[in-house]
Amino acid sequence: MHILILGAGIIGVTTSYELLKAGHKVTVIDRQSGPALETSFGNAGLIAPGHSYAWTTPKLPGNLFKALFQKKKTFRFKFQWDPAMWYWGIQFMRQCTRKKMKENTLRKHRLSSYSQNCFHQLLDEIKINYHGNKKGLIYIFRTPESFQEGKQKLAMLKSVMNNLQLLNLNELIQIEPVMKNIQTGIYGGIYCPSDESGSCRDFTLELVEICKKKGGIFHYNTTIKKLEKESGKINKVITDKGDFMADKYVLSCASYSPFFAKKVGDYLPIYPVKGYSITVPIIDKKKAPVHSGIDEDNLLAFSLMGNKIRFTSVAEISGYDTKWSPSDFTEIVQLARSLFPQACDFSQIEYWCGLRPMTPNGAPIIGQGKIDNLYYNTGHGHLGWTMCAGSAKIITDLILYNKPDLDLEGMTIAKS
Ligand SMILES: Cc1cc2nc3c(=O)[nH]c(=O)nc-3n(C[C@H](O)[C@H](O)[C@H](O)COP(=O)(O)OP(=O)(O)OC[C@H]3O[C@@H](n4cnc5c(N)ncnc54)[C@H](O)[C@@H]3O)c2cc1C
Repeated sequence: MHILILGAGIIGVTTSYELLKAGHKVTVIDRQSGPALETSFGNAGLIAPGHSYAWTTPKLPGNLFKALFQKKKTFRFKFQWDPAMWYWGIQFMRQCTRKKMKENTLRKHRLSSYSQNCFHQLLDEIKINYHGNKKGLIYIFRTPESFQEGKQKLAMLKSVMNNLQLLNLNELIQIEPVMKNIQTGIYGGIYCPSDESGSCRDFTLELVEICKKKGGIFHYNTTIKKLEKESGKINKVITDKGDFMADKYVLSCASYSPFFAKKVGDYLPIYPVKGYSITVPIIDKKKAPVHSGIDEDNLLAFSLMGNKIRFTSVAEISGYDTKWSPSDFTEIVQLARSLFPQACDFSQIEYWCGLRPMTPNGAPIIGQGKIDNLYYNTGHGHLGWTMCAGSAKIITDLILYNKPDLDLEGMTIAKS
């Protein structure tokens, strides 16, 4: 069988690998000049089933409203007339109940944890250098109040994860000694020894080379214009470099997937939520952490990428705008400097922003819609790196008419 994968981000590439492994012919197309040049490029790199909490909490609407008037700009909203944004926004807000928060967290955890197992299987099969760090992730809290909130959230995962450790300041410093250098105070932490981190971009690049060795064909600088439908099936994909035909098609274009799905009669509730990252070289290893993790009060993720640290933050709704200016990063740079003083050289910052393809319930859409030979593997939001290997295995099972290992409740096109 010949399968055409639309999109060479982490999701499209892991899907390609699984399908090639199953013995199929795979062609991948992407508008960029290489793989992982959009959202999979500069993300935080955390593989974090232990942090698969829903973004939609009962407190979120209030926090978003307050953020409009605060100087601290972790949540940002730029007004737009886009009806797709408003329609998606209403669905997103409807998830902000205690009941949905728990359901959504457990669903995300189910896929994240399955995916982490698939990821490890994949690493057993092939050798990939991606700055993998398996020391566990630390989640740090600045105040007793935020620590208390962290404990409450942790309770949601208690039934499915028994290795999340609550730490007081001394215990945290024992695990991560550089925490004693933090300038602006710290109260405690949560340590998840099974969470990990690594470079999603490097991983994708190396996996592409492995796919090529297995016969995968990659076409870059190829922009998809339209999926053409005939008698209830996709018969070709029209691009600026000509038409592509296959037996089956997998759409993995992240925030852009809904445009193509809509043209063939499917609604995908995916909207971009922009995030920012900086990557800086480490100049003093003794002052740099050995774990990756999250500063929870400031929603700042930090991740070791070889001899660099990446810091990511911000959830911004501003449509499909991928522009940035240095002022977008002012707060991230300040926080990063104060988190690990003198560890990094901030005169050599690599700036980046990307669009998280978010669904209202935070789970991706995996499977079919109305079209017989079109499959979706898209909408992985803030956890696409964590969920990539599991999603690839599931979509491959569906394409091959095998029963997936996981219950896909809430991850299909018919989700509430
Ligand atoms: C700031 C930030 C931090 C993050 N941190 C983490 C983290 O710590 N852990 C984690 O698990 N996840 C994280 N994520 C989320 C993760 O990066 C995404 O979920 C993941 O990269 C999505 O992968 P993708 O392949 O779907 O998208 P992409 O990598 O964007 O791939 C989609 C591809 O489709 C192509 N495409 C789109 N339209 C067209 C077209 N018309 N024609 C041809 N090609 C097209 C694009 O060029 C692109 O290559 C983070 C995201 C951000 C923004």
